[in-house]
Amino acid sequence: MTSSLISNVVRTRIAPSPTGFLHLGTARTALYSWAYARHHGGQFVLRIEDTDRTRLVPESVEKILESLRWLGIEPDEGPGLGGDYGPYTQSERVESYQAAAARLIAQGDAYECWCSSERLDAVRAEQQRLKQPPKYDRRCREDAGRAEAQREAQAEGRGAVVRFKTPLEGSVTLDDAVRGASTFDVALLDDFVILKSDGFPTYHLAYMLDDDAMRITHVLRGDEWLPSAPRHLLLYRALGITPPVLAHLPLILGPDGSKLSKRHGATSVFEYRDLGYLPEAVFNFMGLLGWSLDDKTEILSHDEFVQHFTLDRVVKNPAIFNVEKLTWMNGVYIREHTSADRLTDIFVARLDADLPASIARPIDRAVIARVVPLIRERVKLLSEVADYCDFFLSDDLTYSRDDLLGKAFASKPDAAAEALDRVITVAEALADWEQVALETELRAVADELALKAGDLFSLVRVAVTGKRVSPPLFESMEILGSARCVRRLRASRLVAGR
Ligand code: GLU
Repeated sequence: MTSSLISNVVRTRIAPSPTGFLHLGTARTALYSWAYARHHGGQFVLRIEDTDRTRLVPESVEKILESLRWLGIEPDEGPGLGGDYGPYTQSERVESYQAAAARLIAQGDAYECWCSSERLDAVRAEQQRLKQPPKYDRRCREDAGRAEAQREAQAEGRGAVVRFKTPLEGSVTLDDAVRGASTFDVALLDDFVILKSDGFPTYHLAYMLDDDAMRITHVLRGDEWLPSAPRHLLLYRALGITPPVLAHLPLILGPDGSKLSKRHGATSVFEYRDLGYLPEAVFNFMGLLGWSLDDKTEILSHDEFVQHFTLDRVVKNPAIFNVEKLTWMNGVYIREHTSADRLTDIFVARLDADLPASIARPIDRAVIARVVPLIRERVKLLSEVADYCDFFLSDDLTYSRDDLLGKAFASKPDAAAEALDRVITVAEALADWEQVALETELRAVADELALKAGDLFSLVRVAVTGKRVSPPLFESMEILGSARCVRRLRASRLVAGR
């Protein structure tokens, strides 16, 4: 068997199951693994752990790769990406696990277990009754028990699993790159299954053989694997593999302190994309879920993460997933860290997806480019963009008379009608259709009619945008142009009545 550390190039990986999406926890592991590899000039590998045949979802690999790319975390090797250490999909490596299991049996470090699941359930129930920790009772560890169990199994047409023969005593020390050293009593460990009766391996056996074959030097994985780490150390030893550096990353918890799950809302990367978050913001936010540069820096680019990422700054305590913070950060990226050009592209794509088919395509990029500076200060989620922009792209405004009149004119529609008449006259006469002139003229109308400027502006806002809340009025009117605004004002005049 080869040693994992045959060269000093850093190689990291993620090993998701093909469940159809990239979970945020896996995405965070990917980000750290990628940043760590890049920091050291090494490689980052994608491997698919598809040995749980009950959980396969078609096109998962494409979705995982797409999610990683969306985040800007590009694997160097993986299924469909090439690389010297493939195949990168476990179901294509089954023979290597079976060979390793056979070797462990031959050298006395593993054994076939023929016990039925009914028997295992009964053993567990009895242990529960006696308030003992659940544990396989090792019946098949000895020849006599195994022969008996095998006869029963063969009579019933059942196959065997392979269990690791955990030493009965001693200790193992895990030197975790995040958590430091801890020593475990081997006597407390179980004879765990390494090969299932369908011939597929369990995670424990498969991951370490793959990591070894793929020359992985640093395994970053979630804290949920920490309890398994002592068994893994024993299995590495039996297999003659030098363990890679193990780094257990803090759990991600929901705001209520329980492990992040569907109950807390979206948990996959694409759900956040669809909700309207920018990849840079999701990346940055996840980067700080369990790691920090110092206690103040909140905004870091991909390059800065790569430059600064070290394992000693990974925190030990669970990280709390605070979606308000993500939304705030998204706003920061929209306002300050995205070029107007790119933001225009992003807005146009989003409008294309979100606006009804009745609005003409392609979306007029030139118009949106002018709108971007007006709304980027306000938009926190891309899902809000359609509501800010639709009236620039469609003349089909749908507002009610109540919307138009608002509180200010609710009881005096005549005053609204008169005000709109004045505004139309002034608008038609305005030679230079630009925001400063528009504001000056409308303020003059308000004075002349003894209206509050704000009340008049609200009336005009609904008339030209169809909304009581919109991007800045005069800038919007400038972009809409005089002919369109006058048309809309005339239409609103009819709505106001009389
Ligand atoms: N398939 C495992 C998971 O997604 C991989 C854990 C690991 O990184 O080793 O949790």
